[in-house]
Amino acid sequence: MSPDAAATLALRLCEELGFAAAGIAEAVPSAHADNLRDWLAQGKHGSMEYLARHVETRLDPARVLPGARSAIVVADRYAERGSVDGLTPPMHGRVARYARGRDYHAVIKRRLHALCDRLREAMPGEAFRAVVDTAPVLERELAARAGIGWVGKHTLVIRPGLGSYLLLGGVLTTATLTLAGEPVADHCGTCTRCIDACPTRAITPYSVDARRCISYLTIERRLPIDPSLHAPLGDWLYGCDICQEVCPHNSASTERPARNAPAQSPMREDYAPRFASLDLLEVLGWGAADRSRALSGSAMKRATLAMLKRNAILVLGNVLARAPHAAALERVRAIAGDGDEPEMVREAARAVLARLGDSARRTSPTR
Ligand code: SF4
Ligand code: SF4
Repeated sequence: MSPDAAATLALRLCEELGFAAAGIAEAVPSAHADNLRDWLAQGKHGSMEYLARHVETRLDPARVLPGARSAIVVADRYAERGSVDGLTPPMHGRVARYARGRDYHAVIKRRLHALCDRLREAMPGEAFRAVVDTAPVLERELAARAGIGWVGKHTLVIRPGLGSYLLLGGVLTTATLTLAGEPVADHCGTCTRCIDACPTRAITPYSVDARRCISYLTIERRLPIDPSLHAPLGDWLYGCDICQEVCPHNSASTERPARNAPAQSPMREDYAPRFASLDLLEVLGWGAADRSRALSGSAMKRATLAMLKRNAILVLGNVLARAPHAAALERVRAIAGDGDEPEMVREAARAVLARLGDSARRTSPTR
């Protein structure tokens, strides 16, 4: 099959499979290897040691699929531009938009495997490998090269006309496909909204210090969270969308900045939110079976029960710092002294009590 025909087929299949955008890039080594190495050398990956361990693989798609020549890159939309959350219900913690519906790994992988199967039939003898977050691939850089969008100052991919509420995936292949998708110009310009709005000051242009990023802290970090970051967590129980919420390219009223930008493609039903927030006291009462039941089919399962309880107690601390609530405070006290709770959760409870200080002592518990 000719590279042109292979590209046409791949893009048609991506459309049939319902991806919001697709493009084709050369599967060549990263052009930003030094940036990644510097970022790692500065420890900005926090405790995500796997990023440092597989760095050479991450920098070269041919190490993930030997002989890789092309990358078909796809994107799913998981939230509407201009989507605004109302007030978080009392005693609830917010969940980042990408984790409110069905687990994107399953949703994307299933369709990428179907794409691989169809392409294998058409090109026997070539190898295809689906990648979605689980393989060491620089998906954002590949997406930018494939013309899906540009990498914004908050380091997420923004597609003209669609915004950044995008989940990325791809297929590496040994087949040569004609490149499809012009690189998209950077439209961040002089804007600094994401940098200014980030509550932990995690963003420097085109780089995020994961050690300060609420998404990393609440989703990836399996260790205690530094007390200086407890208040900035705000009401985020799992993830954080602030840098995306403030981005003008996620505003429903934003003009399409690029000529020939694609029309809005529909959001997949799979990502329809099952919940936007969770009841903090309920999470604090979960056992392993409750967590499995409540988060069945959700990407939130990435966080362990101890991490979710740690997050819940820290968000509860922020709620209590704003307005006393005797029963909730008593719950924090009980957890701090409960030897059956994981030490990380008890430590978080102790930190909340220490932070509340006098006000905690003044608020008499509900009996
Ligand atoms: S996700 Fe939140 S904490 Fe992380 S960089 Fe964006 S605004 Fe900052
Ligand atoms: S908020 Fe502004 S600077 Fe940040 S990614 Fe969006 S356009 Fe770029």
